[in-house]
Amino acid sequence: MNKPTVRTRIAPSPTGFLHLGTARTALYSWAYARHHGGQFVLRIEDTDVERSSQESVQQILDSMHWLGLDYDEGPHYQMQRLARYHEVAEQMIAAGSAYRCWATPEELDAMREAQRARGEKTRYDGRWRPAPGKVLPSPPAGVQPVVRFANPLHGTVAWDDLVKGPIRIANEEIDDLVLLRPPPPDAPAGTLGVPTYNFAVVVDDRDMGITHVFRGDEHINNTPWQINLFRALGAPLPQFGHCPIILGDDGQKLSKRRGAVSVTAYEEMGYLPEAMLNYLARLGWSHGDDELFTREQMVQWFDGSHLARSPAQWDPAKLAWVNAHYIRAADDARLAALVAQQLAHRGVDAGSADALVAACALYKDRCSTVAELADWIGLMFVDVQPRAEDLAAHVSDTIRPALQDLRERFGGIAWDKVSIAAAMKEVLAAHKLKMPQLAPAVRVLVCGRVQTPSIDAVLALFPRRTVLHRLRLI
Ligand code: GLU
Repeated sequence: MNKPTVRTRIAPSPTGFLHLGTARTALYSWAYARHHGGQFVLRIEDTDVERSSQESVQQILDSMHWLGLDYDEGPHYQMQRLARYHEVAEQMIAAGSAYRCWATPEELDAMREAQRARGEKTRYDGRWRPAPGKVLPSPPAGVQPVVRFANPLHGTVAWDDLVKGPIRIANEEIDDLVLLRPPPPDAPAGTLGVPTYNFAVVVDDRDMGITHVFRGDEHINNTPWQINLFRALGAPLPQFGHCPIILGDDGQKLSKRRGAVSVTAYEEMGYLPEAMLNYLARLGWSHGDDELFTREQMVQWFDGSHLARSPAQWDPAKLAWVNAHYIRAADDARLAALVAQQLAHRGVDAGSADALVAACALYKDRCSTVAELADWIGLMFVDVQPRAEDLAAHVSDTIRPALQDLRERFGGIAWDKVSIAAAMKEVLAAHKLKMPQLAPAVRVLVCGRVQTPSIDAVLALFPRRTVLHRLRLI
């Protein structure tokens, strides 16, 4: 038999930004599909109606686009598929693999309370589960039933996880999952109830022909139910790969409280998408000792092996190193457009991005983010405030006459790097000074920084009038 085409998916819930962990599973799913010449599907799991928002959907789509994770199908929206979940639930009821349960929340609470009192594990006790010879009570009036899965009572569920290896669990350990809940009591007639996560996922993964599921390992406990559901539906099982969570640099789960966790935040801080992809890929997967690789290499190498079993730690310093590499490699015009955006967000009008291209070429070697690049380039547009200690250390009385002279010469030369360098040399000779005395003073006054790239190149980027203005002796 021919192997089915590889189809993977990412299924984010639109209850916030695209989390870095989800971005990483999206990347693995995407790369795996691309590696095998298969398809990658985007599905929006919006059944948590209270917490889902269109704004969040848009952010997810934007982040996927920014990362370049192109999908072949979707976005599919679960809330547009309610009729389908009801259809499958009805088929399962007819086939005996699901049943209606009229137990009220109060009754279920009392049931669990009694189980706890007896020292038992709390679980649904199967009171509405049909069985040969069992007489069920008549459905109570005024109660809307849920639909439950008749999970196999015996045997084991086992799978060979692509990340974690073999996993097995006894069916005795898991109870009859709710598949569908009734609509709220005040909903208009005809409103369809919403499926639970496990049910919707299985119906969708089956209908969408998903062959490989990569997701966070917080879902490992759901997988036995899902496997049983696939079996009950007579559907082929996908292969599962559960990736460990990402830890913050303090060893705790990466969370908002400990720094940025959304893709959007990294975009805003001036990381490049290729750097994020590269860094995220390595966070839980390896290809030998390779730390830097292109998207194409990742697609070529990502065959589902070498996925790490233990949690990776988010390392801002390494991300900065990876980003610095891609900034150095980036085209200056592209960087200039990104810097112009950064500056615009800060309320700084840098004019046209064209003017920034040469500045990007000069500064990019020393920057790990576009934001840092914008800090350097912003010096040309926003008044600088040299620090008092820098002024005291570098703009001494010995230097002042030389600075005065330099300012006068700068007024009358061609404004380019070569002429600026020549004027500085003349001043050094005339005042018997050395470059390490003059250059820091100019740097502090013009840039507000003691260290900069070659001062003649830096000054040439500034409008002459700005330099003359800042060299005014304070
Ligand atoms: N909506 C689920 C989540 O965001 C998807 C889990 C899955 O991939 O099955 O965690």
